[in-house]
Amino acid sequence: MKNKNTELSQNGKNVLALLKKSKIPLTAYDILGKLQASGVKAPQTVYRALDELVERGLTHRIQSLGAFVACHSDEEDHGTQFAVCRKCNKVLELHDHRICDFIKEIGKKIKFHIEREMMELIGICDDCTKKA
Ligand SMILES: [Zn+2]
Ligand SMILES: [Zn+2]
Repeated sequence: MKNKNTELSQNGKNVLALLKKSKIPLTAYDILGKLQASGVKAPQTVYRALDELVERGLTHRIQSLGAFVACHSDEEDHGTQFAVCRKCNKVLELHDHRICDFIKEIGKKIKFHIEREMMELIGICDDCTKKA
């Protein structure tokens, strides 16, 4: 659930700014490396900031890369699908309501209460296809 009303922690803001600037997903250690100049030393600090951002829906975790991307949607509480390029690690965020509805339907059918839905499509992006 997105909650933009309460103030983010300073670390949360810094991490979100880094993720927004980055063209590819960043791991916690990438982030730590980039924040070290501004005095952040402990991985715990980065993990806490990431937890905060993920909880608010401002950032998504890409499971297959173990890395994080800034959310590119203003929609609240949206179901998400990601297209992950295995060559350049670029991630495209999609919100296809048909897929979300379909997943809900399946949940009902198998009597399974879905709490989180996460779909990653692994392949090669248009840029990398053109380069090849
Ligand atoms: Zn999103
Ligand atoms: Zn690519």
